[in-house]
Amino acid sequence: SREWHLVSRPVGWPKPEDFELREVEIAQPGPGQVLVKNLYVSVDPYMRGRMSAAKSYVAPYELGKAMQGGAVGVVVASNDEGVAVGDHVLHFNGWREYATFDAKQAVTVDPEAAPLSAYLGVLGMTGLTAYAGLTRTLSFKEGDTVFVSGAAGAVGSQVGQIAKLKGAARVIGSAGSDEKVKLLVEEYGFDAAFNYKNGSVFEQLKQAAPDGIDVYFDNVGGDHLEAAIGQLNRDGRIAICGAISVYNATEPAPGPRNLARLIQTRGRIEGFLVGDHYDLQPQFVQEVGAWVRSGELKYRETVVEGIENNLEAFLGVLRGDNIGKMVVKLGE
Ligand code: NDP
Repeated sequence: SREWHLVSRPVGWPKPEDFELREVEIAQPGPGQVLVKNLYVSVDPYMRGRMSAAKSYVAPYELGKAMQGGAVGVVVASNDEGVAVGDHVLHFNGWREYATFDAKQAVTVDPEAAPLSAYLGVLGMTGLTAYAGLTRTLSFKEGDTVFVSGAAGAVGSQVGQIAKLKGAARVIGSAGSDEKVKLLVEEYGFDAAFNYKNGSVFEQLKQAAPDGIDVYFDNVGGDHLEAAIGQLNRDGRIAICGAISVYNATEPAPGPRNLARLIQTRGRIEGFLVGDHYDLQPQFVQEVGAWVRSGELKYRETVVEGIENNLEAFLGVLRGDNIGKMVVKLGE
């Protein structure tokens, strides 16, 4: 079985030399354990944080050990009464072909109810992030004008569509290519979208939101955050979900220069972590699952095949190669 190890901590953009794909023996499951063959493995921006030594809300990856991450696989051996061979499970031992771990760390998923990859994206962690951030952290309400960055990505594309489905007055998205911008407007029903690489984010947002914005869902940080503060309406809310524009920065990034605008707008900025909002999971799966089944909420995935391409897939997310959730497919 092959698995990806971090062998040195990247400085700036991660380099291939910081990683190794190693061949290891498959460990047979001990009491209460299962052996799982991974079928879909997740790559996510937060993994960049775990490659650094800095303390955060999850421990850094350990050097010389397999990296972790979300994955869905099929149980091939089980030493636990609650899990049977052939069951499909969601778990946290990604970045590898086979994983042996305690059965209690696995959540059984139904391959008939949704495609397996959906449990990593639209109905999984990134979907819940969009749902919790918008409905809870931002206290979204009907009639709000919403701006979301990273809008063609896994989280962002769902934020914009959920906002529309829940009665947003106007939804504006930004993304890093003209193709993505077109998709936002033509397929996902955004009212306006712009390519942040085509000019000033501040000016492009001002044009797209002539009456200002009530909420901003920030996936990006940097100049996007400053632009959003610049267009924020009275009692506006900003949720800090991610700051991908600075994940590879080697120096602390400057903060927004216009923070004092929060005084006149009585604005609020709040960070959130999806891990604190799993109580919303049943409600999220019910509501968003229904929209996915009815086709009202559309989603795309970018699928890269093969464990040997796991690292490139991850780097691709940082570069913006993906539309929707990026996953690595290892089997059917
Ligand atoms: P995405 O599917 O959105 O992929 C990341 C995207 O970021 C890329 O496709 C790319 O698209 C964009 N990007 C890369 N560099 C930049 C840049 N310099 N400026 C602007 N955009 C950039 O990933 P996810 O949906 O999984 O995650 C989105 C955000 O949400 C991330 O910041 C992530 O860390 C955060 N997150 C936070 C969670 C929480 O609990 N708080 C949970 C899950 C995710 P483009 O072509 O548009 O540049």
